[in-house]
Amino acid sequence: MTEVRVRIAPSPSGNLHVGTARTALFNYLFAKKNNGKFVLRIEDTDAERTSQAYIDNIFDSLKALGLNWDEGPDVGGPYGPYTQSERFDIYPKYVQILLDKGFAYECFCTPEELEAEKEEAAKNKKPYVYTKKCENLTNEEKEKLRKEGRKPAIRFNIAKAQKAFHDSSILKFDDLVKGELHVDTDLLGDFVILKSNGAPTYNFAVVIDDMLMKISHVIRGEDHISNTFKQILIFEALGAEVPRFGHLGMILAPDRSKLSKRHGATAVSEFVEKGYLTDALINFVALLGWSPSDGEEIKSVDEIAKDFRINEISSSNSIFEYDKLNWMNGQYIKKLSIDELKERLKPYLAKYDLSELTDEQYTRMVEITYEPLTLLSDITYDAQYFFGGDSVEIEENAQKDVLDTDTAQDVLKAFMEQAQNWEWTEENLHEKLEAFRGEFKEKGIKPKVTMWAIRAAVTGRTRGADMTAILAILGKEKSFARIKKAIK
Ligand code: GLU
Repeated sequence: MTEVRVRIAPSPSGNLHVGTARTALFNYLFAKKNNGKFVLRIEDTDAERTSQAYIDNIFDSLKALGLNWDEGPDVGGPYGPYTQSERFDIYPKYVQILLDKGFAYECFCTPEELEAEKEEAAKNKKPYVYTKKCENLTNEEKEKLRKEGRKPAIRFNIAKAQKAFHDSSILKFDDLVKGELHVDTDLLGDFVILKSNGAPTYNFAVVIDDMLMKISHVIRGEDHISNTFKQILIFEALGAEVPRFGHLGMILAPDRSKLSKRHGATAVSEFVEKGYLTDALINFVALLGWSPSDGEEIKSVDEIAKDFRINEISSSNSIFEYDKLNWMNGQYIKKLSIDELKERLKPYLAKYDLSELTDEQYTRMVEITYEPLTLLSDITYDAQYFFGGDSVEIEENAQKDVLDTDTAQDVLKAFMEQAQNWEWTEENLHEKLEAFRGEFKEKGIKPKVTMWAIRAAVTGRTRGADMTAILAILGKEKSFARIKKAIK
């Protein structure tokens, strides 16, 4: 059996999109499952839309997701270079083969002429296909056009290739995900493979590279199905083996439109900045089209690889449920150790003065705040009151609903009197506060109301982490200073 070789071939015209991350993952899983190779190829034939920053972002994002490539830029491999702009001297040879075999021809049409053809088709309400005006130009005619200064593009001759290898104009292939797909090739239109400036087009470069890199399976989004038919014909015209193709359904936003920035983050790096863990993101992305056989959704990529079968991928579109991703991210946060959390939360606490807490206090702070986190970045708000020294920002409801009440004022005054002599350890505070709440309970004040008063004064909020631990972490001085400010 031939070696399984798959590839991810991003165009660096943007940061790595989650959709591309999913395609990369499914290719990676397929390679792992079949002891194959996962190849990265950068498709930067469109120089205007390419930037080095995007290329770096693609590398970094794939690495962060654990999708390390076996061959590609950075790591090299036997069929490189793996960046298309470094391969421009490879393509003309194959254009010439197609010209020699009669599967391609020079086209001298100007952009204006082509525009006029399109308008004509639109006027007649017909889908546009190139009229093949240049297919049978004589050598004299071509010479004349060249003398006028026109430079030809090269077009692929669909009908010629189709006739040479198939019985009718219908072209079929057996998709790994979607089953049999077909098209009437009369509707495809002879497309440009080499532009007049000498640059190969996507549909051509991709075939040459897949052929030379011995790609056995092409797994990509279903938006490429119409390209696949064109590409199959080029493989055949070159006498090359046609790879197997598998097309994944699209990823849609919860409103069923195309996933875009207006729905939230779309690039892997944006998710990371927002406080998502790459382990959670890749797990979530795997579930867009694939489901685990045991129904257990939280799984590492290694576990998924064992269970993965390409023919079980759903052929329909998947919905990118941000809510589910958030839930999953929370699950992954809970799985981190306290030491890991201490490090990973730091960037999201950068706006505070971390030196206000000793390492011991910081550890305790993390222990009592991580559980409700959905995103790592939630800590910025959730831990605000551990910083700021003697002052704390009082939220409106904490002021109106709690601190402005007579009960709260009574509680705070009593607290100031009694707590002066308390030994300020968490254990002792726990005991003392229980007794303190007991006294108020006898006066008819519910224990939680008593604690609200203290919480509102010390944290400025009505909810938050364990109050006894907060007092212990802040220390007596800061706690007292804040309570004093809250007393009228
Ligand atoms: N460069 C193409 C893209 O980013 C890749 C298509 C393919 O996988 O063939 O859409």
